[in-house]
Amino acid sequence: MKKIIITGGAGFIGSHVVRRFVKTYPQYQIINLDKLTYAGNLANLKDIENEPNYRFVKGDIVDLAYINNLFEQEQPDAVIHLAAESHVDRSITNPLEFVMTNVVGTVNLLNAAKNIWKGNYEGKRFYHVSTDEVYGTLGETDMFTETTAYDPHSPYSASKASSDHFVRAYHDTYGLPAVISNCSNNYGSFHFPEKLIPLAINNIKQQKPVPVYGKGENVRDWLWVEDHARAIDVIFHKAAIGTTYNIGGHNEWKNIDLIKLLCTILDKKLGREEGESAKLITYVTDRAGHDLRYAIDATKLKAELGWEPSITFEEGLEKTVDWYLANEGWLNDVTSGHYQEYYSEQYNNR
Ligand code: NAD
Repeated sequence: MKKIIITGGAGFIGSHVVRRFVKTYPQYQIINLDKLTYAGNLANLKDIENEPNYRFVKGDIVDLAYINNLFEQEQPDAVIHLAAESHVDRSITNPLEFVMTNVVGTVNLLNAAKNIWKGNYEGKRFYHVSTDEVYGTLGETDMFTETTAYDPHSPYSASKASSDHFVRAYHDTYGLPAVISNCSNNYGSFHFPEKLIPLAINNIKQQKPVPVYGKGENVRDWLWVEDHARAIDVIFHKAAIGTTYNIGGHNEWKNIDLIKLLCTILDKKLGREEGESAKLITYVTDRAGHDLRYAIDATKLKAELGWEPSITFEEGLEKTVDWYLANEGWLNDVTSGHYQEYYSEQYNNR
């Protein structure tokens, strides 16, 4: 396998996947295809931008003519597809953009791959990166497996569920060599600070209110982003065509407990009195259609491909906090301009 197009490589998870592939596989040519929306940032890849096996191309996966042309020119052997609109709150305000990028954009990529591979699928692969949110919400003890029925509730998860269905349909109908993974919530470096963990770190640092939806009872299963990138590497290389794997860290946290843990870590690191940061916690009106609990059963991935998380949540969270404290410049850059408008709409008007 020689040439791989990674879509969404300037985003949070995509940048970790691009870095891992560029560094681990010098024999591969990695093309990072990204539109550079508010969530895409080439500063996430500064350390590898001059590597000889890496190239960035700016483009929109919704633009069918552009995508067809790019695939014709580049003749990639594989696609790892991460480009997406990814923020649930934004999907509630602007669902159509999620349909365009996540559904139409995915179908455009599937078509472009099908057109150039022309049924000759030897050594070819289309890897679709998806989310556990497609499965809906859980009770107190059950877990999502690869056979859990889809039951999405937000426009974001509905668009990702739809894209998963199209990927399977292209495999079943045209034999396209597709694999899918559905992962739980990620955290780590380069995470855009509209999402819970980086938003909380940033606000605690700046002594701003830390918004928590409802009573903070919602449970999420957190995975360190570099462990997700490693799982994608393993699945990309080892999974059989047409398979799906769930990826997760067996690491469930109620939102409120997670925020309190972050407050404790930051009290220590910032030399504040114990309990000082927790005073910033502010409960806000719950998100509409908010799923109560997500939890991934990643047994299949461990049993069949030998992957498991490399670090504990406490270790990962500590690394993440340290990264945000050491990378103020990155944080200041991404929280200027449009971020300010978004932030004031979301949080200041409540
Ligand atoms: P992100 O929002 O940080 O990055 C998305 C990237 O896609 C950005 O670089 C953006 O510029 C690019 N993009 C958006 N629209 C595009 C378009 N039309 N054409 C080309 N590029 C476009 O997202 P993320 O959190 O890194 O998530 C990456 C993928 O992983 C998504 O498919 C998401 O559904 C999935 N996922 C995310 C999580 C999570 O916890 N963040 C968990 C499981 C799965």
